[in-house]
Amino acid sequence: MKVVVVGGVAGGMSFAARARRLDEDAEIVVLERDAYVSYANCGLPYYLGSEITERSALLLHTPQSLTASLALDVRVGHEVMSVDTVGHAVSVRELSSGRTYVERYDALVLSTGATPIMPPFAGNDLPQVRVLRSVPDVDALQALLAAGAKRAVVIGAGFIGVEVAEALRHRGLDVAIVELASQVLPVLDPEMAHNVEAALLGAGVRLHLATSVTAIRQAGGQGVDVELADGTVLAADLVLMAIGVRPETTLAIAAGLAVNSRGAVIVDEHLHTSAPDVFAVGDAIEVVDAVIGSRATVPLAGLANRQGRAVADELFGHGSVLPATFGTAIVRVFGTVAATTGRSEKALRAAGIACHAVHLHPAQHAGYFPGALPIDLKIVFGVDGRLLGAQATGTEGVDKRIDVLATALRAGMTVNDLAELELAYAPPFGAAKDPVNMAGFIAQNVLAGTLTLWRAADLDEPSFATTFILDVRSVDEFAAEHLPGAVNIPHTQLRARLNEVPAGVAVRVYCASGFRSYLALRLLRQRGWEDVASLSGGLATLLAERPGLALSLAAGEHPSELSRAS
Ligand code: FAD
Repeated sequence: MKVVVVGGVAGGMSFAARARRLDEDAEIVVLERDAYVSYANCGLPYYLGSEITERSALLLHTPQSLTASLALDVRVGHEVMSVDTVGHAVSVRELSSGRTYVERYDALVLSTGATPIMPPFAGNDLPQVRVLRSVPDVDALQALLAAGAKRAVVIGAGFIGVEVAEALRHRGLDVAIVELASQVLPVLDPEMAHNVEAALLGAGVRLHLATSVTAIRQAGGQGVDVELADGTVLAADLVLMAIGVRPETTLAIAAGLAVNSRGAVIVDEHLHTSAPDVFAVGDAIEVVDAVIGSRATVPLAGLANRQGRAVADELFGHGSVLPATFGTAIVRVFGTVAATTGRSEKALRAAGIACHAVHLHPAQHAGYFPGALPIDLKIVFGVDGRLLGAQATGTEGVDKRIDVLATALRAGMTVNDLAELELAYAPPFGAAKDPVNMAGFIAQNVLAGTLTLWRAADLDEPSFATTFILDVRSVDEFAAEHLPGAVNIPHTQLRARLNEVPAGVAVRVYCASGFRSYLALRLLRQRGWEDVASLSGGLATLLAERPGLALSLAAGEHPSELSRAS
């Protein structure tokens, strides 16, 4: 069998390598229009930031090494111009010579990737305005730095945007990020993005959220002026456009393959396109969201690699059925790690799916062991207890928890299962009740009704004015700052001071992280108070949801603007 592969990076090369391992006799031709194949595009920001010092480290293979080890016919600088799905052939242009030729196939694998979105504003074609997708892209950015770029504007605060902001800061540039959403990393729930915003601000990156770029104009010298919708003008020597990608499916559309409204190739669970013997994988295709069941584009390397492997199994192995995706992803921003799997609470609510959420702030390992650091963890689950999503931020242990939760999602686990997971424990590594177990315990309590949570949104309810707000932190913590109108009874004194809690009213309890307020809730419930709720994740979560919330000082109740984000 002769297979032609279009695109020789993540999905395409994963297919080709697996296909060879399964069939020594197959003829495998990989056509790549760029000068590089099988390079580490995920490593590009780290090379830009000089964390990866050698450019050659990004280039995992050459056509020669792939021929030597896997007997692949890899042709770089060869662009596929069209596909004849009836005649089972592609027409190819060799870019160096302009020569065109026809390559016949028995099966065709399209792994053409995605293209960075470039909005049509004035100045988007200026030489200082760049994208980051490929090795030539990073070379162009390095050239701007070598020419003396000192000021950068990154447009878009998704994964690539924040990684590049970090890289450019490492290189000593003055960096600003412009983001249309009112938060960075819009895939996260807003309160979970808060730590990342704090990390960016702490590293000196300026954030311009909830605004957009309207034009970029050439300024004096090498610089440009980036004009924002809110009237701000940012001076820059380098502008990185990172507002997202769209499927690169020019070829597929011209060939008449079925695509969705975003241009992503529609495939079945075996990655067959609408044309016979034509498969598609990677950023170019539409996948099924495992939680909501909707169709989505999820441009992630792990997916592209697994899909490439799945097509090889389909053609040369035992067949393959591709499961729906959970979109598990992780990013590091100046030492802060943020990760997600499954769906966010806001995505579930937008889809009309009823869910609960719990927030917790456990340490990554036993609190008494030196070096304990908090993880901010959130899980989202259905009213039936099924896990629907999880997000975490912190400095250590975030990757481990999200990977456990991603595995739990794939296994269709409930919060009861999370509570029962047997996870490795010794003091340097975790806790006897791991954060994942703890999330399960809290969720179990919510479902059982032994814990009722209140959230930032409750502050806006008219009824909140008549609730009894009970702060069960210590006297010193209360004195430092507290919610306006709150009464302080430390949880250790509550049993003896129950007479200070009015009967027959709603009681909203809070503490720093949600644990002491849970203890207080259990006590009050068992002593006759019925309408008691504990603040989910405590003040740590509340202030992440409402960074500008006015807190009061003990003496005189003067609101102090507590702005953790600015
Ligand atoms: P690609 O790997 O982009 O390969 C597509 C190839 O097809 C390109 O080389 C292109 O030149 C070629 N091509 C297109 N049309 C033609 C044609 N007509 N003829 C010949 N060749 C053609 N994902 C993660 O999961 N984690 C990360 O940390 C991460 N970091 C990233 C950082 C950056 C800077 C970028 C750009 C991406 C990152 N990704 C990450 C995403 C990941 O790289 C992609 O999801 C993955 O590469 C997609 O694989 P693909 O095969 O679909 O496309």
